[in-house]
Formats: sequence, structure tokens, C-alpha cells
Amino acid sequence: MSEKLIEFKNVTYFYDTDEDEENRPQPSPAIKDINIAFSKGEFAAVLGHNGSGKSTLAKMCNAILIPTSGEVTVEGMSTSDEENGDLIRRKVGMVFQNPDNQIVATIVEDDVAFGPENLGVEPTEIRRRVDESLKAVNMYDFRLKQPHNLSGGQKQRVAIAGVLAMRTDVIVLDEPTAMLDPVGRADVLATVHRLNRDYGITVIMVTHFMDEAVQADRVIVMNKGSIVLDGTPEEVFSNTAAVKSCGLDVPQSTEFCSRIGIKNTVLTAESAVEEIMNIYGGGAK
Ligand code: ADP
Ligand code: MG
Repeated sequence: MSEKLIEFKNVTYFYDTDEDEENRPQPSPAIKDINIAFSKGEFAAVLGHNGSGKSTLAKMCNAILIPTSGEVTVEGMSTSDEENGDLIRRKVGMVFQNPDNQIVATIVEDDVAFGPENLGVEPTEIRRRVDESLKAVNMYDFRLKQPHNLSGGQKQRVAIAGVLAMRTDVIVLDEPTAMLDPVGRADVLATVHRLNRDYGITVIMVTHFMDEAVQADRVIVMNKGSIVLDGTPEEVFSNTAAVKSCGLDVPQSTEFCSRIGIKNTVLTAESAVEEIMNIYGGGAK
């Protein structure tokens, strides 16, 4: 777990703005002097208010954006070196918020084949990868369907299969469930957890759902371009004041249990019930 896969060293990022106007105040950076490392096999959730720099951070993990200063490395390869771009994009796949913007083909299996085709993978190997990837996200039975007939959650799972077919070690997901209904959201989340658990794929997932964040190994909270909290879900959400000062809520169960005087940091409804039964129910479950 301790092997560093992606490392940010003193990373600052400014979006380009028109340089014509003189005397304009220097814009503030989207990301400000960030130092963080992601380890092989971990599941990290990134939280933060709108505009805190989450998407910028996500796009820097696979060289979509290159630091203005500082360095991002993927297995030691700097994203600032253009020659590493292809290798980095094969190691780190991205899934974005809007499922409709990510699907390029008119048949599900052709869409999943698109990535490996572009890498020049041979056809029999592509066939194998497409089948494997669709099975891994539970979409194999839909392989001959047209993506536009699928639900949002199913489309996101096809997008994830497309990343898997490239054989990436890391998947970075930027609010992948934000546009989904509750069922689609649960399916996508379960899929991502399964890929992490069963295939050892490293996951970095930006989300604004606290109930998704509590299921991660690690929670990172961003505010105004900086990382302000970084720890296990218990560590982060026990710090209620700090979480709230970033304009975020702690999970409902955490808030509720803290209000009724339970000292432990409770993260889920199940553990809230357990805690309450321990106090009031004579320890029965
Ligand atoms: P988040 O994903 O947390 O909402 P972003 O990384 O998208 O935050 O944005 C961080 C900051 O960078 C915000 O102030 C935002 O307005 C700015 N920003 C994001 N994208 C662009 C862009 N394409 N051009 C200029 N500024 C941008
Ligand atoms: Mg964003």
C-alpha cells in the first residue's frame, strides 16, 4: 500500500487568461503549492466546495493539465515531460461527470474497443479486453446495445469499461455519480469498489456525496486550491469544525451521533444504530 504511484510536489496551477490587459491583478491559482502522494491500491475520495480545485487536481493526475510550477509524477515519470504523455495516459484513466460526453461509438462494445484500438492493440487481444472489461462492470449483456438507450449509470459503467480496456492501473473519477439517479449511483459506486478490491485498481474519486466519501480508505478535503484535511474517514469527519469551515457537511449519522453525545466518530447509519443499541439496548444488535 505504501508504494507511491502519483506524486504532487509543490504543485501550483494557474489557468491561462488573456494576457492583453495590463494592470490586471494576478489571478489566484486554481491549485496552490500542493504536496500529496497516492499509493498503489488505495481508494481516495476528494471532497471540496465548488471551485476548490478538485477537477484541476484530477486532470493533473494524467497529464491533461501540466503544473504551472512544481511537478506531478506517475510512477516516477514527470507529466511535464511531453514524451511521457502516452505512457501516463495508459496508466491513469479518467472518467468524467457527464456520461453522454464520454461515449463515442454507437454500439457499446465498439465504444469500449475505442481506447485499445487507438493504442494499436491487436484485434484478438481487443476482443478479449472488451469482453473482460464489460464483465467487470456488469455490462457484458449490453455489449451489442446502443449507448443512447442506456441509463446514466449504465453509460458510466461503459465509460469505466473503456478505461479498463486500456489496462490502466489508476482510475480518476471526477464526480462520476453527480448526474445519476440513486440506483445508477449505487451501481457505479459498487463497481468502482469492486475494481479496487478485486483487481487492485487504484481509485481517486472526486465526489460531493459524504456517504460515498465515508466508504473510501482515505478522504482528502480541498479548499481554495489547497489540501486542508487528509486522513481516514474517521480522522477527517471527527474534525467537524474544520470540515464545516470548508463549506461542507459531515455525514448525517456523524452529526446526529455527536449531537446526542456519542464520543466515537460514527460514519454510517448502521454504526449509528449499533452505537445507540450499545447505550440504550443493552448491547443487543
Ligand atoms: P472544483 O472542481 O473543485 O469545482 P476546479 O478545479 O474546477 O474546482 O476550479 C478551481 C478554480 O479554477 C476555480 O476558481 C475555477 O473558477 C477555476 N477554473 C476552473 N476551470 C477553469 C478554466 N477552464 N479557465 C479558467 N479558470 C478555471
Ligand atoms: Mg469539478
